[in-house]
Amino acid sequence: MTKAVKIEVISLGDELVRGDVLDTNSAQISLAIETLGLAVWRHSVVGDRVSDIAWLLRSAVGRSREIICTGGLGPTLDDCTVDAVGRAFQLPAQEDPQALGQVARRYAAMGRELDPSGRRQARLPRGAGLLPNPGGTAPGFTLRRGAARLWFLPGVPREMQAMLELHVLPGLRANYELTPPLVVTLHCIGMSESVVQERMRVLSSPGLRIGYRAVLPEIQVRFAFEPGAEKEHVASLVERARSLLGRAVFAVEHSDGPKGDSTIAAVVGRTLLEKGQTVACAESCTAGRVAAAITSVPGSSGWFTEGAVVYSNQAKSRACGVPGRLFVEHGAVSEAVATTLAQAIRRRAGTDWGISTTGIAGPTGGTPEKPVGTVYVAVAGPGGTTSRLLRLPGDREMVMALATGSVLDLLRRRLEQA
Ligand code: ATP
Repeated sequence: MTKAVKIEVISLGDELVRGDVLDTNSAQISLAIETLGLAVWRHSVVGDRVSDIAWLLRSAVGRSREIICTGGLGPTLDDCTVDAVGRAFQLPAQEDPQALGQVARRYAAMGRELDPSGRRQARLPRGAGLLPNPGGTAPGFTLRRGAARLWFLPGVPREMQAMLELHVLPGLRANYELTPPLVVTLHCIGMSESVVQERMRVLSSPGLRIGYRAVLPEIQVRFAFEPGAEKEHVASLVERARSLLGRAVFAVEHSDGPKGDSTIAAVVGRTLLEKGQTVACAESCTAGRVAAAITSVPGSSGWFTEGAVVYSNQAKSRACGVPGRLFVEHGAVSEAVATTLAQAIRRRAGTDWGISTTGIAGPTGGTPEKPVGTVYVAVAGPGGTTSRLLRLPGDREMVMALATGSVLDLLRRRLEQA
């Protein structure tokens, strides 16, 4: 890696320092920089005070070559990045005609009048270069101070990401001779992060960096190989990792390969499409999250027909014909109810597959036999019905997310066998 280039990231905003909003921009920037073969060495977060930001910017140019800042470019008075740059480097803010044109066009497209506060966004520090913002109103800018180059991007994560890819990454590629590492990402599901890490321990070798990321409901394992790593070495290591993780691996991505959606919902969707099959779902404890996950994949009307949220026992009986005696004999959270739901929704929708969830998301409703996190998922399809009892950790949101992933994973495994 070209580690010699010192790159730091500064996130601006009171909401970040207070903890109201998690600073995801810094993480996204670091990940993107790593794909170039560079590394970020420092993150800072600072509130919306001109003097604090100015102090941080002055110290940053003394220690880093590339400084990427996000936030504080908007129309409100707490958006003070331009003024802080002015204070730090004695560069007074002035209205930039090109920036004004962009802001005005954006306001016109939204049918809004450009008032004085909106117009503030067209101010840039003297000598700064404009960075157009394709997805928002506030333009960014870049400037040089001595050996350092500073980049200022909006705080909105979506806008930040687009401008990072449009301006910053090409700017870095143009300025340094880069040898990007090969990064292979294994997407795993149905195995805890600690178990995944334990299994990967035997693979550690010089020149290989292994990183882990929990992106509920999956765990991602990232192998970063030194530039120039032998193809055979990479292939055999990935193969070993796959065999150590078994069927928990549902997708593998190479940084130099095609980019695609590698969520479990997308993988299941693609498989259904290839097979020309369809699915419908009946959800209790996930309350629509399974349908939402499936339909978050573009083109999902090609494999998804309908979803029923059957939260109460009455709804389970009315919409899916669950006999009342099952609730008495087994309880609503039971294998019997999960399998009946999956079979019923499959019949009702006329699909190849029916999938279901029923469980206790908490924080209340648990019992000694069925504590919070007890979930049954079921898949009915050609060749019969399969169910799985899960004991999921975490709060309500986490249980719901993991249950959603688990039922899709069970379907994925059935599709692999079919
Ligand atoms: P805007 O034009 O929307 O005002 P801005 O450049 O002024 O853009 P901010 O006002 O600082 O950006 O933030 C806009 C939104 O982006 C807010 O919802 C904020 O919580 C979010 N945001 C800002 N910085 C970050 C960050 N580092 N990580 C995640 N979210 C962020």
